[in-house]
Amino acid sequence: MGVEVQTPLIDLKGIRKSYGGGDKPPVDVLRGIDLAIHAGEFVAIVGASGSGKSTLMNILGCLDRPTSGQYLFAGENVAGLDSDALAWLRREAFGFVFQGYHLIPSGSAQENVEMPAIYAGTPAAERHARAAALLDRLGLASRTANRPHQLSGGQQQRVSIARALMNGGHIILADEPTGALDTHSGAEVMTLLDELASQGHVVILITHDRQVAARAKRVIEISDGEIVSDTAAADDWPQPQGGNALQAVDLRQRLADRIEHNGAWKGEMIDAIHAAWRVMWINRFRTALTLLGIVIGVASVVVMLAVGEGSKRQVMAQMGAFGSNILYLNGHAPNPRTPPGIITLEDVAALAALPQVKRIMPVNGSDAGIRFGNVDHKSYVGGNDTHFPAIFNWPVVEGSYFTEADERSAAAVAVIGKKVRDTLLKDVANPIGQYILIENVPFQVVGVLAEKGASSGDQDSDDRIAVPYSAASIRLFGNRNPEYVAIAASDARKVKEAEQAIDQLMMSLHGNKRDFELTNNAAMIQAEARTQNTLSLMLGAIAAISLLVGGIGVMNIMLMTVRERTREIGIRMATGARQRDILRQFLTEAVMLSVVGGLTGIALALLIGGVLIVSKVAVAFSLAAVFGAFTCALITGVVFGFMPARKAARLDPVAALTSV
Ligand code: ADP
Ligand code: MG
Repeated sequence: MGVEVQTPLIDLKGIRKSYGGGDKPPVDVLRGIDLAIHAGEFVAIVGASGSGKSTLMNILGCLDRPTSGQYLFAGENVAGLDSDALAWLRREAFGFVFQGYHLIPSGSAQENVEMPAIYAGTPAAERHARAAALLDRLGLASRTANRPHQLSGGQQQRVSIARALMNGGHIILADEPTGALDTHSGAEVMTLLDELASQGHVVILITHDRQVAARAKRVIEISDGEIVSDTAAADDWPQPQGGNALQAVDLRQRLADRIEHNGAWKGEMIDAIHAAWRVMWINRFRTALTLLGIVIGVASVVVMLAVGEGSKRQVMAQMGAFGSNILYLNGHAPNPRTPPGIITLEDVAALAALPQVKRIMPVNGSDAGIRFGNVDHKSYVGGNDTHFPAIFNWPVVEGSYFTEADERSAAAVAVIGKKVRDTLLKDVANPIGQYILIENVPFQVVGVLAEKGASSGDQDSDDRIAVPYSAASIRLFGNRNPEYVAIAASDARKVKEAEQAIDQLMMSLHGNKRDFELTNNAAMIQAEARTQNTLSLMLGAIAAISLLVGGIGVMNIMLMTVRERTREIGIRMATGARQRDILRQFLTEAVMLSVVGGLTGIALALLIGGVLIVSKVAVAFSLAAVFGAFTCALITGVVFGFMPARKAARLDPVAALTSV
């Protein structure tokens, strides 16, 4: 046998551990432990309660570090290993069995057993098969789907033994494994440990019970933090028997060769999503309440943007439907105490001569009472010339528009809007040729205008009647000045220039008094778009605030989760999770929370949108808004989940394990 073979697996030299310090006097729990354990040994550490056995086990299992002294694992100084290497040791070299079983309550027996293999990066199929085989070997084949609370104490302890063996379990550290069990189950567990020892596993059994300790080949007694007796002195320990035992040299080699698999992320991710979903489901009411912030945030962004965009498009359509090169000229009071200015037909004639003006049409109109048979109706009646269809881009669908001859002779003819046709003349198959009364004056219907509301969304624009300007002046409203003047600019791209020219001419015609007002559709569309944009911005701010509140909700849930599941975090660390595995898990949970919140928000938004569409509100959902809101929710999860996740990852394994 070479010298290397005799290197102990575990070699403790002068290990001390004290608690307290600072303002409190330090308590020495371990006071200089020298101990060597070789491959293939079955050792019992026995001692009264409070003698420091568990503290020693935590140090042996690399869950805790000694205050002073040296721990050589397979000849390697543990003090020099980083937290990833320690996690590797816990995962690959050790298997823990605790008095209180320490199973994860929300996972099934199978899932609990598989956990160490997830952190080891074992492929799923291999993991499932191995866990099933171990559970079968320990007589739990029919209990794989049970959760810990559905198992007896003895069964739970067997699950925890299976978990300890999942990655090989070369060194089984069992802290009072029978302490919580009845005699029969306790005996079963002891038989199992016996078997494992004879198969070559190192078994380190910790107990306060001398009878239990007597099953081991070597019994070490500890009292008050010191070894008081050892049935085998380290130097006269015979060469390890049992060809199955993994020698120190092999473990050391593996430690040196260890690869930090990151290929495990997929398995861990699925595990994390699974765990996250379970926790969310168990606490669904609490989760739902806390997620309201995100749900409302996302839903409001999406709905508000959709409504904003919808009404913007509607207004644009309304205005665009009348042509964006149209200018309107009205009389306007320069200040509240003076009467509004009057646009005269002389003004119109002068403006018509401007090169920037293509067409100009005065309108002499007013709301008027209409009657057909015994049906009464009120609509806008405008006297205007034959430019009407061209200026307003508004064709006639039945009959025809009145002519220049009608205009010259002030003929009592009318072209009616779609709405007038549909309300006043709805019982008439062919309205053309029918007589209607406008302000008790009979007018003959010669044409029906196309439906404007269909393209503009403004049904009121169809509630109008067009008659010749001369007829309106002579027969209806008297020979007065135009109510307003519609002007088509020669070039739709030079509306601004036309506006300036008209303004200049009007100022000179009206003695430099701005007692008129010029408006145009393009400007109105722009102004409308601007107000819509400010509105969207404001709504966006509201949404941002609710997302912030939602984020704080996520943080709150995550902090609670970390607190409630501190023990679970400790268990995961004991089975070999690295800090980054814990960080990843809790971050995944936070993101998952926000994803669920975000998706619920989008679903809610679509629902509200549906209701709005049914109630005839213009909405236009944009994919960009949906994605944007969802991404915001996602980012919220990452940002607000990070702090709690890091807190979880930085927990001390022993403190986490012993938390209640
Ligand atoms: P055993 O497992 O042998 O019953 P422990 O190792 O659990 O004993 O504890 C040994 C002593 O160390 C006890 O007196 C206990 O009060 C003390 N102790 C253990 N953990 C801590 C701690 N985190 N802080 C202070 N004292 C501790
Ligand atoms: Mg103890």
